[in-house]
Amino acid sequence: MPESTYDVIVIGARCAGSPTAMLLARQGHRVLVVDRATFPSDTISTHLVHPPAVAALRRWRLLDQVLATGCPPIDTYAFDFGPFTIAGAPGTDAEPVAYAPRRTVLDQILVDAARESGVEVREGFGVTDIVIEAGSVTGIQGRTKGGSTVTERGRVVIGADGLHSTLARAVTPEQYAEKPKLLAGYYAYWSDLPMDGRFEAYVRDERAFAAWPTNDDLTVVIGGWPFRDFEANRADFERHYLAMFEQAPPFAERLRKANRESRIVGTAVPNFLRKPYGPGWVLIGDSGYHKDFITAMGIHDAFRDAQSVADGLHEWLTGARPFDAAMADYQSARDQAVMPMYELTAELASLEPPPPELEKLLQAVHGNQAAMDDFARVNAAVMSPADFFADDNVARIFAAAS
Ligand SMILES: Cc1cc2nc3c(=O)[nH]c(=O)nc-3n(C[C@H](O)[C@H](O)[C@H](O)COP(=O)(O)OP(=O)(O)OC[C@H]3O[C@@H](n4cnc5c(N)ncnc54)[C@H](O)[C@@H]3O)c2cc1C
Repeated sequence: MPESTYDVIVIGARCAGSPTAMLLARQGHRVLVVDRATFPSDTISTHLVHPPAVAALRRWRLLDQVLATGCPPIDTYAFDFGPFTIAGAPGTDAEPVAYAPRRTVLDQILVDAARESGVEVREGFGVTDIVIEAGSVTGIQGRTKGGSTVTERGRVVIGADGLHSTLARAVTPEQYAEKPKLLAGYYAYWSDLPMDGRFEAYVRDERAFAAWPTNDDLTVVIGGWPFRDFEANRADFERHYLAMFEQAPPFAERLRKANRESRIVGTAVPNFLRKPYGPGWVLIGDSGYHKDFITAMGIHDAFRDAQSVADGLHEWLTGARPFDAAMADYQSARDQAVMPMYELTAELASLEPPPPELEKLLQAVHGNQAAMDDFARVNAAVMSPADFFADDNVARIFAAAS
């Protein structure tokens, strides 16, 4: 086989791809990243970055650049269930706040950081084929717009290429824990809708919506309905988008005083995990694990994958561990970390009313600041749903309420 030019080739340069490439290049490996997009580039995302992902940006020495864009901190997550609101602190003493930098801002910083670390970054380069030799992925084929087809070879090819991953299509990995599309979500950016550092979510009859602040004094407002109504509401989604806020009259009133500054964008997504590695290939971010956006976990999960896979591949590239052992650890750690949140995300995305026991628990949480902080932290990926809903924790919450 021809010799590899690169240790690692990464397809996709956003939240999963660029940090992975950056971390590997910082360890001295030869890395190529390609993306068909040219940056700055927007993508469908409401870009809430929970405190543990903020911690990753800090650890990677990129947080200051994000903050320099003027993106405001979010120190409170508030969940309005109608009769009561649970409002708590999403973070920890060390990492107390979330941010929601626009993807035009965040992804550019990540791409630049990869380049500055020594990664060769090719923007506007679309991968059309995966090179597979003797059962192993050995490279990519693709081209820049109007350019000729080129082949590049790497010891491993990473698919950080999102939901419609070209690499996943080529290697057809096992897919598991699949769930159908559950929620149709629509969002737009609004001015004159001050949030005072709050993420606000509203849970109503067959509707859920939320708002939080981003760059340029704008507020992102997202909401949705069950996927079964997707087709019926599709032709008239703007009316349905605006009508849902009337289920929370004070919020609807605030919105009437605000101005919509963008078109309304919408989508619905499937839910699945994939076996994320095989001979010569690895999947990270959305290409390996995809879930509904209602819990805003995508960037957090992409950053976790980036760190985990960069650490594992470094061990393999330096001869410390076999590829399969390092990547099996990545898969098992990923699945263990995400499964409770994956299930909770699917429950929330179904927009079914909470079962009676959960409703009682939420009522008991309301007003108990420590429990409300924990509830916020579950939604911020700081506390596992498994720990929050553990019998002893639930008993403690009920005891405090009685
Ligand atoms: C409506 C909505 C709202 C969301 N809100 C949030 C939120 O608030 N917070 C949050 O954390 N997450 C949110 N997410 C999820 C989040 O956006 C994703 O999880 C995240 O973008 C995944 O990052 P990624 O790098 O894995 O993939 P992507 O961001 O999808 O990037 C993949 C990249 O690969 C490139 N690519 C693909 N194929 C090729 C090819 N063949 N050749 C070259 N390049 C290719 C694409 O151009 C793209 O740049 C939301 C998602 C949706 C749909």
